[in-house]
Amino acid sequence: MSLFLGPMRHHIPGKKELSDHKDILNLLPKKEVYLPLIAGNNTNFNVLVQEGDRVKVGTKLAETASGFYIPIYSSVSGTYKGCAKRMHSSLKPQMHMIIELDGLQESVPSFEPLDYQSATWEQCVDFIKNAGIVGLGGAGFPAYIKYSKPNGIDALLINAVECEPYITADYKMIQSRVQDLVTGCLILQKMATCNVVYICIKESHPDLIDLVKKAVSSHSSLQVKPVPDVYPMGWERVLVREVLHKEYDRLPAEAGAIVSNATTAIATAQAFEKGQAIVSKMVTVSGEGVKNPMNVYVPVGTCVKEIMEACGGYTSDSVRLIAGGPMMGKTVVNELWVVDRATNAITVLPHVADDAIACLRCGKCSDHCPAGLQPVRIAQAVQANNLEEMEKRGALSCIECGLCSYNCPSHIDVTENVRKAKRVLMMKKK
Ligand code: SF4
Ligand code: SF4
Repeated sequence: MSLFLGPMRHHIPGKKELSDHKDILNLLPKKEVYLPLIAGNNTNFNVLVQEGDRVKVGTKLAETASGFYIPIYSSVSGTYKGCAKRMHSSLKPQMHMIIELDGLQESVPSFEPLDYQSATWEQCVDFIKNAGIVGLGGAGFPAYIKYSKPNGIDALLINAVECEPYITADYKMIQSRVQDLVTGCLILQKMATCNVVYICIKESHPDLIDLVKKAVSSHSSLQVKPVPDVYPMGWERVLVREVLHKEYDRLPAEAGAIVSNATTAIATAQAFEKGQAIVSKMVTVSGEGVKNPMNVYVPVGTCVKEIMEACGGYTSDSVRLIAGGPMMGKTVVNELWVVDRATNAITVLPHVADDAIACLRCGKCSDHCPAGLQPVRIAQAVQANNLEEMEKRGALSCIECGLCSYNCPSHIDVTENVRKAKRVLMMKKK
């Protein structure tokens, strides 16, 4: 598959100005947080506390009982009230641990800090595994996996691109914790066993580029790499091509690269230096459907309803609430879901009536697909319930970037059709 056949990437109005220069709101939920017992598709967890137990910020509450090791730490201090099923941003009901807040926010280190400079490579990789550091770019996949076999890695790419419209959470995290970013890059560099780290920032953020350049000036291995303001520049494949001029088949490691998100690097530094797990998240609440767009810093498990109230509510009664950004996020029909470790945005857009018309066969969806697919063909296979055709057309390679829907002049939700194809094929594989 050739990567850049058509434009395959697109300049999209960023709309970052709605939130990027506003102050961050630190928000503590009024009564309870709800910590989802899910990591990727894994819902098999051992709960380590009893109902009625007092917990602090940082107390270990649960860990995966199978699959990749992922612990869950409390994001607030208070009392464990048991588990209940609630709506999750994956659009499926999931078990959540409920912690009733005491409002004190007393904390304990989740684990002993570790001096990465004197620690061995094995100790560092074990450390991020036990600390529960997950990729914070959206996937929430355990970070240690990428660093477990770093043979032949030439470069580490730190992804600070944040290419989806509206989202400025990484921007605000880097602005407020730039020294943690530097330390995190040095730790991840040690684990990647490479000589150079490129911190990739969109050229439309000159202030951030200057800030990070100053912060890394005494570390010759850390370099800031401005990248074009196009979408999906933050996708690993596009970033590796842009920065290293290399392509790969399955994983960036085939091109001698590891890609980690900038906020993952920040979380790594906080874990090593302070024994702090990922218990809070920066979340961009933005879009024309919210009265007061801004970034909120909230404990993991905070309910979206409380966040929306803090942001002034909605601009009209008819809006679309999206878990994530407008391109890759999922529309959720209520506000009962919570911020989890992978949540970086809540986007609210005015509801647009479904005015889709018949396909014009213009090919724009194929021209712009960064995965080199023909989304219209996959959509047709979905309508015909033709699994063989869905597979043949490579539906599983879709990264759900949303560009096919964005570019469709007939307003067909092509992405949703390709998502359906992926779901059906994955069910079949199971
Ligand atoms: S959503 Fe999937 S099919 Fe559509 S353009 Fe993006 S990668 Fe291609
Ligand atoms: S972009 Fe829309 S109208 Fe054009 S071929 Fe694709 S689905 Fe059809």
